[in-house]
Amino acid sequence: MSLIVQKFGGTSVGSIARIEQVAEKVAKFRREGHDVVVVVSAMSGETNRLIALAHEVQERPVPREMDALISTGEQVTTALLSMALDKRGVKAKSYTGSQVRILTDNAHTKARIREIDNQRLHAGLEEGYVLVVAGFQGVDEHGNITTLGRGGSDTTAVALAAALKADECQIYTDVDGVYTTDPRVVDGARRLDRITFEEMLEMASMGSKVLQIRAVEFAGKYQVPLRVLHSFEEGPGTLITLEDADQMETPTIAGIAFNRDEAKLTVVGVPDMPGVAYKILGPIGEANIEVDVIVQNAGDDGHTDFSFTVSRTDLPRAEDVLKDVATSINAREVRSDRKIAKVSVVGVGMRSHAGVASQMFAALADVGVNIQMITTSEIKISVIIEEKYLELAVRALHSSFGLDREPQDESAA
Ligand code: ADP
Ligand code: ASP
Ligand code: MG
Repeated sequence: MSLIVQKFGGTSVGSIARIEQVAEKVAKFRREGHDVVVVVSAMSGETNRLIALAHEVQERPVPREMDALISTGEQVTTALLSMALDKRGVKAKSYTGSQVRILTDNAHTKARIREIDNQRLHAGLEEGYVLVVAGFQGVDEHGNITTLGRGGSDTTAVALAAALKADECQIYTDVDGVYTTDPRVVDGARRLDRITFEEMLEMASMGSKVLQIRAVEFAGKYQVPLRVLHSFEEGPGTLITLEDADQMETPTIAGIAFNRDEAKLTVVGVPDMPGVAYKILGPIGEANIEVDVIVQNAGDDGHTDFSFTVSRTDLPRAEDVLKDVATSINAREVRSDRKIAKVSVVGVGMRSHAGVASQMFAALADVGVNIQMITTSEIKISVIIEEKYLELAVRALHSSFGLDREPQDESAA
């Protein structure tokens, strides 16, 4: 008998029929004798609907109230799933984040988990209940409801698995595992049997939203066995593992990630002198805006153009900050561009293979895609391109790095 944490995402609990199906699945595990903790998301579309309601009332909603609002979606699904389990003769209890005491910091809408009081959970499990916990939410030390950032139910599941020392954390979703790239964009994408924590972390941070970044961080840190599976189809899914000891089997590239959520800002005609980067990025940091890719081009005339990317939601605030900065440093103008996208190739095999960058740039050149910015780390290379070429670029890279599914797989898929 083992303890399993199972997380079901929005589409998997998107209707009563789906919730009934999830209940069947959970009941089956329970009847096999496992202890089960279930984490659920809100019904698909619900969190977006709630966010839109908030924006109808207030352009920049009060963060505390935003969390009070958007955490409600998960409370609905915990209760409905518990009822569906009860109907099947399976003892079940729903819990909010605050009832479980998923204690977070007070950074509303992107709170981090500090501590989980697992006593109540252990007590419930010992009494033979399936515990159905609301994903995505926690509570700060003053009792305010917090949320963990979009996709945060994954993190709830992994954090509970870590706190309870579960035997496995299973993330059930609407695809049957982690693919070489988003299977909704590239038909030939291939499911991976396994991917390392490190690669999954880069894929997630570079935009593959199949797992929330923090969930992968947590799983790596506490060595939680983590698997991504299809909610309603049988299959092995994808296991997130420690680095493969067998280097021979490590492919150079594990996958291609992409992200449409960034925007580019350029401060044009900045006097080229020491301290410029600091004068521009200092106030951006003070405004709590995260900067991703940075490029500075020095001109011959003593002026330079300084470009960087931020998340699209932060663009209006970043523009406001930069207007003042530009005046104070005598820059010519500030330009912004929302129509960009970031494409990244990710793989631990890159460490021992030279030439990945040049292969990437050649593949993009072949399809006529211009690269605006480049950034690299030990196991990834990212480029910023015009958004309209995103899918073309992802497909070209997917083929160039030999990730396309073999034709003989086609019938099995
Ligand atoms: P859930 O609501 O279950 O949390 P998400 O929509 O957050 O589901 O995540 C699953 C989706 O992630 C898939 O439908 C797929 O389109 C997308 N996705 C993006 N990149 C990948 C990838 N590399 N492998 C699998 N799915 C991916
Ligand atoms: N419901 C939240 C969201 O849509 C959390 C989650 O689904 O993981 O972001
Ligand atoms: Mg998700």
